[in-house]
Amino acid sequence: MRGRRSLSPSPARRLLRRLRAPGLVVASAALATGALALRGPTGASAPVPPAGEPSAVAVTVAREARAQALRGRERTRIERRRRRELRRSRALGRPYAGRLVGGVALPAGGAAFFTWNHVRGRTPSPAWRRHGTVRLVRTVLRVVRAHRRAHPRSPRVGIGDLSRPRGGPFGPSYGGRGHVSHQNGLDVDVLYPRRDRRERPPQTAAGIDRGLAQDLVDRFVRAGATTIYIGPATGLKGPPAVVRERVHHDDHLHVRIGARGRH
Ligand SMILES: [Zn+2]
Repeated sequence: MRGRRSLSPSPARRLLRRLRAPGLVVASAALATGALALRGPTGASAPVPPAGEPSAVAVTVAREARAQALRGRERTRIERRRRRELRRSRALGRPYAGRLVGGVALPAGGAAFFTWNHVRGRTPSPAWRRHGTVRLVRTVLRVVRAHRRAHPRSPRVGIGDLSRPRGGPFGPSYGGRGHVSHQNGLDVDVLYPRRDRRERPPQTAAGIDRGLAQDLVDRFVRAGATTIYIGPATGLKGPPAVVRERVHHDDHLHVRIGARGRH
């Protein structure tokens, strides 16, 4: 192999070998001529490569096949890393008495969402208030992006607290009324979209854009949420096994996913 490293098992090499087969050399040379004629303004005759040499087209095709194989390997690598991350990220204990191992932070904001610090009444929320399992963070991103795609003119969705970086208690000592749950990276608060489109929690249930809020509830249900709390004054609906009324939830909904959900 003239000192070069062998690529023999690659699809690119196999394709190249097929193109070099006697019957195909002529075909690939003809293709090369055609390709050059397309490029050249006069359509002057292209040099036919000597028999046994790969034509320009064959080389291009082989290169493309090799690039495809590399992309395939890259995809496999990303998929493996994704599975490793999912395994590393664990919700221990219960949402109201637990902790979080290998959690990740939801980004501070994006095209489809902003994060809301309800203690200081401003955006963004600090990173230490927005940690969750990989599965929870992915679910939130997937839902808000799909919501945005379905309603391109809707305001960005406000995301409140998730959990602390290692989970554990998230009570009033961390500001505001505090949370009983939100301890093991499976809970997230989501602000109802406002009719006036402002990026902050609605002051009363009348200020909620009910259509958009219901769309969010439906999407979280479909995404595999195990529990969703909505305020009694919101008029929002959902399967009773999942969507329940709770006081103090007229300005945000609370979503909980399972430790081993569908994602
Ligand atoms: Zn909550």
